[in-house]
Amino acid sequence: LVKLRDVRKSFGSVEVLRGIDLEVDSGEVCCIIGPSGCGKSTLLRCINHLERVDGGEVQVDGARIGYRRSGNRLIELPERDIARQRADIGMVFQRFNLFPHMTVLENLLEAPCRVKREPREEVRERARELLERVGLAAREDAYPGQLSGGQQQRVAIARALAMRPKVMLFDEPTSALDPELVGEVLATMRDLAADGMTMLLVTHEIGFAREVGSTLVFMDEGTIVEHGDPREIIAAPSHERTRSFLSKVL
Ligand code: ATP
Ligand code: MG
Repeated sequence: LVKLRDVRKSFGSVEVLRGIDLEVDSGEVCCIIGPSGCGKSTLLRCINHLERVDGGEVQVDGARIGYRRSGNRLIELPERDIARQRADIGMVFQRFNLFPHMTVLENLLEAPCRVKREPREEVRERARELLERVGLAAREDAYPGQLSGGQQQRVAIARALAMRPKVMLFDEPTSALDPELVGEVLATMRDLAADGMTMLLVTHEIGFAREVGSTLVFMDEGTIVEHGDPREIIAAPSHERTRSFLSKVL
């Protein structure tokens, strides 16, 4: 469903992604780990064209993200086409960036109604089901500021799901939370995985990666060092760099 082929990205003279090849099939949960600054967030941001790749390509469900080919030239897609592609790619960040002046329910309605121009009544029904699913049906009229960090992050997940994405990207969704709130967000993500959602997740939660992940990717200095079964890699990493990283986070 998600394919990256030789993806390269530099900031100035620094090559942050040095040729990333990765395939994530439908229903897979791909967990990405690696030291700070190795390029994990940049990788996720390239998937929905929040960063332009300098080389290689990203495909989601067969469609090339951000560009089309014309003869042997690549042309960046117009903004509205990029917006349409992004509608298929849900993203949840470390900091829940909910709209603070809107209620929980309004947060969920915003993108489907504005970007996809779906009828409000239809979206409202779906939004309520999603809030039910993340355990926040009773809080639809609350404002984000009235919720705990864990509740806000669950709203952020429901809001991304309201667009009916084909894939969900998570960038350290629990690392800004107080420890006692991490579990409820992980539980929501676990349910989503059990429902068959395709997910790419940057995380430091090695236990979650081991239990829920279909594959584990260890990145270092802009490359994928190791990629495989999470349980096998965690039990017996093949590379010294993976071993050394895991020994620090486990
Ligand atoms: P962390 O675990 O700390 O979140 P990360 O693996 O997500 O790290 P990235 O955020 O992808 O790392 O950053 C990779 C490198 O690219 C870092 O050296 C960072 O400083 C640099 N970088 C990221 N975004 C930009 C930008 N917009 N402009 C310049 N440099 C950037
Ligand atoms: Mg990051």
